[in-house]
Amino acid sequence: MAGAFERKIHETLADTRLQQAVYTATGRLKDSRLAVIAPHVLPDYQELRAHAHLLKRHTVDHLDHYLEKFQRNVESRGGQVVFCNDGAEVTDFVLALAKKRGARLIVKSKSMTTEEVDLNEHLEHHGLESVETDLGEYILQLAHERPYHIVAPALHKTRYDVAEILTRRLNAPHETKIEKQTAIARAVLRQKFLAADIGISGANFLVADSGAVVLVENEGNARLATTLPKIHIVVAGIEKVIPRAQDLAVFLKLLARSATGQLLSVYTSFLSGPRRAGEIDGPDEFYVLLLDNGRTKLLPDSAKRQSLYCIRCGACLNACPVYRKIGGHSFPWVYSGPIGAILTPQFMGVSREPSLPFASSLCGACAEVCPVKIDIPRVLVELRADVHQSEARQKRNRLEKLAFRLFRWLMQHPRAYEWAGRLAASLANSADGGWMRRVPVLLNVGPVRAWLSQRDLPPPPSRSFRQLWRQR
Ligand code: SF4
Repeated sequence: MAGAFERKIHETLADTRLQQAVYTATGRLKDSRLAVIAPHVLPDYQELRAHAHLLKRHTVDHLDHYLEKFQRNVESRGGQVVFCNDGAEVTDFVLALAKKRGARLIVKSKSMTTEEVDLNEHLEHHGLESVETDLGEYILQLAHERPYHIVAPALHKTRYDVAEILTRRLNAPHETKIEKQTAIARAVLRQKFLAADIGISGANFLVADSGAVVLVENEGNARLATTLPKIHIVVAGIEKVIPRAQDLAVFLKLLARSATGQLLSVYTSFLSGPRRAGEIDGPDEFYVLLLDNGRTKLLPDSAKRQSLYCIRCGACLNACPVYRKIGGHSFPWVYSGPIGAILTPQFMGVSREPSLPFASSLCGACAEVCPVKIDIPRVLVELRADVHQSEARQKRNRLEKLAFRLFRWLMQHPRAYEWAGRLAASLANSADGGWMRRVPVLLNVGPVRAWLSQRDLPPPPSRSFRQLWRQR
């Protein structure tokens, strides 16, 4: 590991308050999930996972078909669908529309897709005010931080941290009670909702057979952001499409349970098109921006393609022993934890942070909890192979490559392997204490030292396995 990634990891490991906050919060989410998937609560949990996996696989295999169907149905209800190759196309669309309509204030509900394209930063750079309305996201916007967790963005903040942020940024009284902090944020945000020109949301699901955008949330802010302003813009990754409304019976049962340990989230909204004649609420204009941003690059590879099945529940983060130690801000991009470790290299290229696929023990905890059964360890192993193949990595690790070549040659030549083992054992066990005595000197050399700083080197046994086998 090298550079910013390694530095952030060490900073997080050294911060005992942060360690405690992250470990406690993820532990709570883990326990809540276990309680609602227990066999006596949800006996068909494993069948639901298998069903969700098949539904996602089928949809991603026929992505173009379902996206076109979704587009036709949105447009038949008076909305507009725009396909965006990257973040710049999303920003350009929003800016052009805001300019045309004279919009100044935008309210946003939580969306990792807009985080992915740095939408707030771009809008603010062009003079628009863009306000996050999910409580956790709002706190982080005030603190100028990015989300720490894909479901609980401010999971690393204690109520004392939040009190300090609200006082510093809003000049509010120093309140450490969560209810009072919520009231402070609510008073500010209510005025923003009422004055906003545009509401921007993400999407949990895009239903192809009806053109509905499904939003799942607990605070009600997404409902306000999508119904009060005259314009609603949805920004969603193309993989969010599902074939039919009835498939939600599977996904909704899994999503809230896996994310927060709830049977169902507090609000589930189905939004399809602008307000129609006779309806009392809803926007006048409704747009869905469907973002690629590297997703279609994953389609040709059947193993990696499963990364697109993700429903962003965050369960793999809570289960991951690495995420629980190194936290969300150590990761180089907006997606953290096991899902971040496979999405970032695939969307941004393996050279963005070559160490990322290696920052895993491959224990499989992520795959075990994933509600759509993504085989994350397998994708990580494939990405490790990609890193090794990348030219930059090859240049940097000549020594490692040489060592593996030698190892491969030894494994292919049993007699040489046996002699090498005997030689190592006799040197280690020679009368003067052998080379083990000189190990500290030998190991204090560049890459060997780095490699062994995380691993133990056990002394070779006095007799090899082959010798023991012969004498059995
Ligand atoms: S990879 Fe699976 S467990 Fe992780 S966020 Fe996505 S759906 Fe949830």
